[in-house]
Amino acid sequence: MFEKILIANRGEIALRVLRACKEMGIKTVAVHSQIDRDLKHVRLADESVCIGPNPSPESYLNIPRIISAMEITDSMAVHPGYGFLAENADFAEQVQKSGFTFIGPSADVIRLMGDKVSAIEAMQKAGVPTVPGSNGPLPDDPETCVRHGREIGYPVIIKAAAGGGGRGMRVVQTESALMNSIRVTKAEALAGFGDDTVYMEKFLQNPRHVEVQVMSDGQGNAVHFGDRDCSLQRRHQKVLEEAPAPFIDEAARRDVYQACVNACIEIGYRGAGTFEFLYEDGRFYFIEMNTRIQVEHPVTEMITGVDLIKEQIRVCAGEKLSLTQDQIKIKGHAFECRINAEDPKTFMPCPGTVNQFHAPGGLGVRVDSHLYSGYKVPPNYDSMIAKVITHADSREEALARMRSALDELVVDGIRTNIPLQEDLVRDSGFSEGGVNIHYLEKKLGL
Ligand code: ADP
Repeated sequence: MFEKILIANRGEIALRVLRACKEMGIKTVAVHSQIDRDLKHVRLADESVCIGPNPSPESYLNIPRIISAMEITDSMAVHPGYGFLAENADFAEQVQKSGFTFIGPSADVIRLMGDKVSAIEAMQKAGVPTVPGSNGPLPDDPETCVRHGREIGYPVIIKAAAGGGGRGMRVVQTESALMNSIRVTKAEALAGFGDDTVYMEKFLQNPRHVEVQVMSDGQGNAVHFGDRDCSLQRRHQKVLEEAPAPFIDEAARRDVYQACVNACIEIGYRGAGTFEFLYEDGRFYFIEMNTRIQVEHPVTEMITGVDLIKEQIRVCAGEKLSLTQDQIKIKGHAFECRINAEDPKTFMPCPGTVNQFHAPGGLGVRVDSHLYSGYKVPPNYDSMIAKVITHADSREEALARMRSALDELVVDGIRTNIPLQEDLVRDSGFSEGGVNIHYLEKKLGL
């Protein structure tokens, strides 16, 4: 097992990783930007290194500085969390070349899954159902593009192979608008991601976002931990998640789990991963794989009782999976509300000093947060400041528990989206379950 892990992240996920390391008896190194020296995990880590000024490119995204910090501190491995360098194949490669371990899959697998065209191809080979589409990049000649459009049927969506974060996509309603949309998306993709490869997919009208959590040891063993529903989104950003996804066809679910496990083994996957699907009319359609731990992993931990970060660290240290599929049992239901430092109406980020912070508690309530009274939320990074997670035997009880937990939560001094979350957990449509990816934006009148 690793003796010392460097945590190349900040905020709640850095704290989450630190807690797992402590329980495992692994020493921790926190790296931070100048403004982040008072972060909770920096204070709790065995060692800390300031890696640069506040802008992320000069600190959390600066590969040479992070590798230097590993060298100075004699760290054996790096945990990238999510965001920042978590899905950067060059980083994974350089970590390995420097003689350290990247807690995640190999650089090659990150690259394969980071390109959506090659990811879809790999998934099809492994028997994972995908969205009907062009099955490869769109060529320059209009005839082929028009033919794909007719075969798939309108509306279609043009997507950048290198896209991410909900950017580099364009819906096309009619054939007359097709070629112009392809041109614009290509130009945007080139400017935004340095790669103008685009492909075409059927645009599903009212899907839900349902994803499958997996873990694999890269030694021929893989398991799944069931699914999560993350359909409540605004601008493709998840707001409130739950596990398991309600009202899913059981046969389709069994098939998709098996396909995900097979795909992990086929591509030699190592670590924690998520297969993201759109789910419509009882069918799953793969859209992308996230090759890292995700923000919403706690809902899966609550219903399975498995610490996914510890398991991720173990398999990346070369151990075999500690669990077989039979040992993973889904129990009850869990919700997660993301709490952001932002205006609940305009969604503008609201950094500043948190005068008072009171976290909710009680049976089945979990708060993953780096906040404390007096903490100053900096303007430089993501606005998420806390995750409130509740678990109970049934969906109704877990939701009632969330209503009560949010009532207890106090974040004073800055504006937050708590009022929006309080509204959502009382929304009748959401309470019934199974809403689609447009539900939140429609509710907000967007
Ligand atoms: P990103 O990597 O930018 O997150 P995804 O491929 O995961 O891109 O898609 C992000 C979101 O865009 C999905 O959650 C869904 O809301 C929408 N989307 C993507 N592909 C389709 C599609 N074929 N039909 C309908 N909506 C889609």
